[in-house]
Amino acid sequence: MGPPAKAEQQNKSKKKGLTERLVCYITHPRQLMKRKKTLSSLKRKRSRLVARLPDLERLLRGSLVERYKKCGKSGCHCVQDRGHGPAYYLSVTFGPGKTRSYYVSAKQKRRILKYLGNYQKLRELTEQIMSVNRELLEQGELEDDC
Ligand SMILES: [Zn+2]
Repeated sequence: MGPPAKAEQQNKSKKKGLTERLVCYITHPRQLMKRKKTLSSLKRKRSRLVARLPDLERLLRGSLVERYKKCGKSGCHCVQDRGHGPAYYLSVTFGPGKTRSYYVSAKQKRRILKYLGNYQKLRELTEQIMSVNRELLEQGELEDDC
């Protein structure tokens, strides 16, 4: 008596599982459309972010620092004020306690600021792109064509 009843129950639950899937598909077409729309808007958003990426050849990490120097000559005006300058340097940290400075001429200052800005922009945009990709991952829609 036992075994046949068990088999029947298994059949029933299989059938039930199939029906449930079908009902879900038919009764929630709106939700499905909404999901698709979200998906394409996510991909559009990602494309817009990629289009805004800065020139990847013009990047610098670090900070622009201003320095003033005292020449040491007695009677020089710098004895009274903050010193000669400003002179500009690009300060880059490579690790704990490892910082290097690179001289930046007045002429190069604007360019350096642009390069530094590009790097900030790159970081912000890639963070947003990865956020979109995490959403796609959650939806099981992360593409593998790369
Ligand atoms: Zn001086």
